Amino acid sequence: FSINSSELELNEELGRGNYGTVKKVIHKPTNVPMAMKEIRLELDQSRLNAIIMELEILHKASEKSEYIVEFHGAFFSESCVYYCMEYMDAGSLDKLVNYELGEVVQIVPGVNDEALTWKGVPEEVLARVATSVVKGLKFLKDELEVIHRDVKPTNVLINKKGQVKLCDFGVSGQLEKSLAKTSIGCQSYMAPERIRSESEGQAPSTYTVSSDVWSVGLSLIEIAIGRYPFPPEVYTNALAQLQAIVSDDPPELPDRYSEVARHWVARCLVKSPADRAGYAELLEHEFVKADESREVDMASWVSEALSFRDAKMRVRTVSKSMSAPPTA
Ligand code: ADP
Repeated sequence: FSINSSELELNEELGRGNYGTVKKVIHKPTNVPMAMKEIRLELDQSRLNAIIMELEILHKASEKSEYIVEFHGAFFSESCVYYCMEYMDAGSLDKLVNYELGEVVQIVPGVNDEALTWKGVPEEVLARVATSVVKGLKFLKDELEVIHRDVKPTNVLINKKGQVKLCDFGVSGQLEKSLAKTSIGCQSYMAPERIRSESEGQAPSTYTVSSDVWSVGLSLIEIAIGRYPFPPEVYTNALAQLQAIVSDDPPELPDRYSEVARHWVARCLVKSPADRAGYAELLEHEFVKADESREVDMASWVSEALSFRDAKMRVRTVSKSMSAPPTA
């Protein structure tokens, strides 16, 4: 648990979240790569101690589940909390599958020597993601009495071995309390009952596991179709988007997936929380049972998805530099 900044070698930025940046670092004494999240906070010592204590519990617990990103340690420096966790070398699912089915990256000399087609997320892979996420959430609930509250594809991480793990769960109530309240983002994964109770100004303590189940369903559809399932805010506005979540029929998994898969997702996206599936039902469902009974070559799928993502990124860079105005 004792990590300090002098032991870390800073590498590239992995992403940016609501509260700060995430960078790749190498823990020099052990040569272990880690993801370090910087969270800006103005805190007094007693608050800091409380946070450290909670993070220590998390540290011990996170070693017990293969569906939770391991927590390596945290330290404070100049009014920032630095939170070090397991580095997931294929990143978050939002960035890995954010493509339209059939999208092609053409050959670009010196970049990719064959055209690549995005083949989407096969059912077996989707089922493995779903199973891992629900098992992770159930672990948090049963072992740590924690409700995630922020399930979305950005918080589902994957590595080249094909392991799927959750991150960013509100284990540290103290840390959460110290964070400024997130403004409603342009893509909401909030369940309809959450949107209603927030708009009525109810206490957030009414949050239950069931609201996370809704977010699981919505995230799975996003992972399957490569985009946020509700009309994007550019066509509407934040309020209209929230209104759609509350009033419209819930989105569905496309029919290229099996009835079993579609049923599982539909059970997550039942609008009334009382009728929505719980973790027990989801884990007993044929969708999960089938996943548990088969081998899935997740590593090959991740490798293919990374090739597509990298080719697409390099093509973008190439075309950007080609369209740059000539320098005089
Ligand atoms: P948010 O606040 O939106 O949930 P985060 O701050 O948690 O986002 O993370 C921002 C980005 O950093 C993620 O989208 C992901 O791509 C990357 N990232 C976060 N944690 C890790 C990790 N442990 N390993 C690899 N990449 C990570």
